[in-house]
Amino acid sequence: MSIEANLKSIKADIPDEISLVAVSKTKPLEDIMAAYETGHRIFGENKVQEMVEKWEKLPKDIEWHMIGHVQRNKVKYMAEFVGLIHGVDSLKLLKEIDKQAKKYQRIIDCLLQIHIAEEDTKFGFDVNEVNEMLHSNEFKGLENINIIGLMGMATFTENEAQIRREFKQLKSLYDTLKKSMSELSILSMGMSGDYRIAIEEGSTMVRIGSSIFGARNQH
Ligand SMILES: *Cc1c(COP(=O)(O)O)cnc(C)c1O
Repeated sequence: MSIEANLKSIKADIPDEISLVAVSKTKPLEDIMAAYETGHRIFGENKVQEMVEKWEKLPKDIEWHMIGHVQRNKVKYMAEFVGLIHGVDSLKLLKEIDKQAKKYQRIIDCLLQIHIAEEDTKFGFDVNEVNEMLHSNEFKGLENINIIGLMGMATFTENEAQIRREFKQLKSLYDTLKKSMSELSILSMGMSGDYRIAIEEGSTMVRIGSSIFGARNQH
């Protein structure tokens, strides 16, 4: 199927109030433009340099989301334009985002990535670490970042019960934090293989790549 048809069928499959990030990592500009022509505007990349190159060449009304692990020394390249950073996993990174955002007089929206998967290769805060950070004075002093939600990736497994359990854990943390942080509105969970489960478990934003653009060769 074509990118247009894939996008259409995914949009028909997810409720209107769920945001869709079309994950275009490794894919060429033409593929992004094919999705853009249908009216889609939110795209996700996992490498800063690749996102910057695409931002330079593509229409400026695209909203770029950084969904991958971010190295602190790369933040400066995207601070001017990035729409949402999903993978914030340390206070050090948050401080760097704050510093770079200041240079452009911006407030950059961020999600805290929470470690919910079994694999220890996936980045993110442990559930306990998050509270500690949110209550620290250092965090409270940051003025150019805005934490608007949480992001998580479930274990890559066929075991649906496990995936569901991990998403439930993230949703529960989200609900708890929301009681004291009214600005939280995004729960970014769900990819091509597990977005239906994620939505059932309370996701508000799904990040879908291969089901829209086809399989990737790298990454
Ligand atoms: C690549 C990626 C996705 C999309 O994965 P698909 O399985 O192709 O839908 C979603 N989230 C993150 C963090 C990714 O790196």
